[in-house]
Order: sequence, then C-alpha cells, then structure tokens
Amino acid sequence: MRARPQLGLSTGEQAAGGFRLLIGGSWRDAGDGGTRPVHDPYLEQDWGMVAEAGGGDVADAAHAARHAFADRRWSGLLAGERARIMLRLADLIERDAAKLTTQQIFENGKLVSEMAPGTQALAGDCRFFAGLAETNNGASVPPSRPGFTTFTLKEPIGVVAAITPWNTPLGLLGWKLFPALAAGNTVVIKPSEVTPTSTLMLAALCQEAGIPDGVVNVVTGGRATGEALVEHPEIDKIAFTGSTATGQAIASRAALRSARVTLEMGGKSPQVIFADADLDRTVNGVMAGIFAATGQSCMAGSRVLVEAPVFDRFAEMLAARGEEMIAGDPLDPATQLGPLASKGQLEKVLSYFDVAKHEGLACMTGGKRVDRSGYFVPPTVYRDVPPDSRLAREEIFGPVASLFRFEGEEQAVQLANDTRYGLAAGIWTNDINRAHRMLHRLRAGSVWVNNYRIVGHTLPFGGYGQSGVGREMGADALDAYCETKSVWIDTGNDIAFRTGGED
Ligand code: NAD
Repeated sequence: MRARPQLGLSTGEQAAGGFRLLIGGSWRDAGDGGTRPVHDPYLEQDWGMVAEAGGGDVADAAHAARHAFADRRWSGLLAGERARIMLRLADLIERDAAKLTTQQIFENGKLVSEMAPGTQALAGDCRFFAGLAETNNGASVPPSRPGFTTFTLKEPIGVVAAITPWNTPLGLLGWKLFPALAAGNTVVIKPSEVTPTSTLMLAALCQEAGIPDGVVNVVTGGRATGEALVEHPEIDKIAFTGSTATGQAIASRAALRSARVTLEMGGKSPQVIFADADLDRTVNGVMAGIFAATGQSCMAGSRVLVEAPVFDRFAEMLAARGEEMIAGDPLDPATQLGPLASKGQLEKVLSYFDVAKHEGLACMTGGKRVDRSGYFVPPTVYRDVPPDSRLAREEIFGPVASLFRFEGEEQAVQLANDTRYGLAAGIWTNDINRAHRMLHRLRAGSVWVNNYRIVGHTLPFGGYGQSGVGREMGADALDAYCETKSVWIDTGNDIAFRTGGED
C-alpha cells in the first residue's frame, strides 16, 4: 500500500495553511463551518476535509482583494520588485515540487510521469511572467493632432477571479495567477472542488514568497461558491478554465456588469493522419493525444481522422497499443494509465459506452469498466464513427478515440472543422507542402504537425469557436490582465473652447 496523504484539517499542517480558506492573509474556516471531503480516485477513499466557502466568505475574499488593490500594496510596487517576489515564488515551487506533485495526484489520480514535469513547468511559467512584469509597457504614439504628446499606459484591471478545473489544477491556475500578479492585479482563486488542496499549498507558497496579504486569496468550494464569486460586484475580471457549459453561464452573468472574461473551455479536437505519415511515430502521438491523462485533457485528440488507404492498419495499431498500456498506481513512474479523477467522471465516461452501444458503433477495444479498484476505464477505440454520432460531437473527457475514414485533403478539412469547438488539431504527414496547406485551413487555436499535446509558456493557448474566448500564455497574456489608458498631454496649445471632438 502506498503512503497515504498526510495533510488534513486535523493535522499540524492546518496551522501552516492546510485546508482552510485564505482570506486577507488569514487562514480560516468557512463562516458556517461547512466542509467537503477530498477523495483519492485510485484508492477510492476520502482522505481529508476542506472548508466549503459560502456567500459571506466569498464576499470577504472579494473585499480583501479589493482593499489590497485599492491601497496599491502590490500594484504600487516597482514592477521589478513584483518580479523579484515572483522569482522567489518560482524557487519555492521548485523546492516543494515533489509535494505539490503528489498532492495533485492524491486529488485527481493523474500520473506522476506527467505531473512531475508539470510542476517544473509551473516554476518556469512563473519565471516567464515575472520576467515580463518590467516589460509591461504602453507605447509612445505619434499624436494625430498638433501640439500634443500622446502615449498609452498599461494598468492592472483590479480584482481577478481565477476559477479552475480539476484536470491540471496548478498548471491551469498558473496560467491565470502569474500574468495577473505580474500586471499588478489582486486575485481570488476558486479551485475545483475535486482538487482544492494543491491550490491551498500554492497559496501558502505565495505568502512565504512575500506576496502581501490580500493579494492572493483562496475560496474553496463547489458550484455555489463559484457562482457567488462570479456575481460579486467587486470582481473585475473572471479567468475561467472548465467546461463550455459552465464557461458560457459565467460569461452571460459577467456580461450583465461588463466584467472582463477569459474563457478556456472544452474541445473535440481532430488528429488528421495522412497515408504518407510515419505510422509508428503517429500512433505514439495519437495515444499521447487521447489515452494520456486518461483522456482528461481539454486538448485531447478524441477525433482520429485516418486516410482510407491506411485506415484499417492504423486502427489495428492504435487498438493494440491501447491494450498494452499499463494501468496502475499513478505514483508509480511505470504506470501509463491512471484512474479517472472522480466517480462522477467515471459515470460520465461509462454513459458514453452505453451511448456507443445504443448507436451500434463498432468497438475495437475497451468500451467497458475495468474490473479493478479505482475509477479505471480502458483505452477505447470506436471505428467508422458517423459524423453525427454523439461520440463524434461531444467531449467525453476519457480515453475514448472515435475513428473516421477520409479520402483526400478536402474531406479531411471538412470533417476536422465539423465541430462547435476549435481548441486544437494534429496533422500527421511527411509531405511538408500538405502540412502547410492543412495548418492554415484547420480552425483551431493550436495546431501540431507530427506531434500532439505540447504546450509551453512562450506560445499562446486558447480556442476558436466554443472552445474559448481570449488566449492564455505567451507574451501577450499580460494584456488580458491590463486596461489600456490613453494619455493626451497638451504641449502648449491655446486653451480654447473646442467644439470639434471626434467622439
Ligand atoms: P467545470 O466547468 O465543471 O468546472 C470548472 C470550475 O468551475 C470548477 O472550479 C467548478 O467548481 C466551477 N463552476 C462550476 N459551475 C460554476 C458556475 N455556475 N459558476 C462559477 N463556477 C462554476 O469543469 P471541470 O469538470 O472541472 O473540468 C473539465 C472541463 O474543463 C472540460 O470540459 C475541459 O475541456 C475543460 N478544460 C479546458 C481547458 C482549456 O484550456 N481550454 C483546460 C482544461 C480543462
């Protein structure tokens, strides 16, 4: 039996932050004493309790963040000083990398072989945005009228709510938290109810790094906690990652008071495999796209489009490789397939196996629950899936590949773009000209040629269509956490009553 998580409301960690709310620099229980269990999806056991923030707690966190923004304790620092503190935070993330990694695994069952590099990447993301803090320039702009000096300033938006999902708890939080902090905003974080504790640990590191009280606040809880945050009038911007349905609900509420939003939502991304591709390399990439992370990836390449001459061969290869995957303890570096993150997610994926049966789809492998403890489902391959099947159109968030046969580029483009989403796409070909033709025509925020599911902080990430609004990461990401102020300085015109504005 592997070591159990040691943190919990009843342990000494509580004093250092543990699983309570972080509001205005103080760790405290929910106002009404509410709690919710944290669950290990591999052991199928609860292992801790986390405070469940109510509306009053959310309001306190929003006030604390507003107060911290208004007195400029963070935005008023030199950008270089903010950067220095963020660099310290990156060092602390590296110091505690093993703990942050295992904490996330205890929450969502993702593999150590994926989460450990992810924690390293988190420190890198923090350094990247720290480095950008001092380059957050406006521009000196040539005046369009005589007698003026004109320029723009970049200023923080104010209080940012960061609402995150469970599949990559800290990575997706970092994509919001780090640019928000670099630009001088204050933040209220609402992590997923499935993965709250790793976020609290990161918040404790923010404190240790020297980020002033009230600048980073955390309210843990479920949907009601998230709704209270979205509704709160002191929240200026909502940065959200999660399902499309939730993102759209948030955006519609935010629009009523013109709160800014960045939305990273769902996907049903195509991987397009041409007959000239190196199929051995391709099968590895397709597996990384749909079976890695047990398919619980927003950019999962869940629609596998294969050119007719190699369809049968590739389908057999993919099914055979899926069957070889080693399922087991996510903490074991040799494990290739972990459990799904929760019982709810297990039930969702199993329901799609029922849909496939009902639709009469041809299942090459998988398609039923694995007979073992933990929320495991096997890598699953359906072949010749009709384009109007629910398995062609809906995000499953499990290791379920739907295969489609196509002939030629035109049909590939038509099938690939036949979706309401547009998060990512893969192209597998050895023909460089074809790769270029295709990458221009696929409607997706990220396109990978002869690789899949690679992200990094220097390139923006986000979706077309119903996969998202805005982009995270990349040097422009800071802009999503800034207002732009235009300044006109009169350099000696006669002050006269002007009637000729251009508004
Ligand atoms: P979810 O939408 O159920 O929940 C996401 C977060 O929103 C959670 O913190 C949840 O508590 C909160 N929430 C739920 N309802 C809310 C409401 N009405 N108001 C405010 N907050 C609310 O998503 P999930 O199941 O946690 O995550 C899986 C989804 O996330 C998938 O659809 C996946 O594609 C998507 N995702 C997208 C990206 C991306 O970058 N595009 C990355 C990872 C995951």
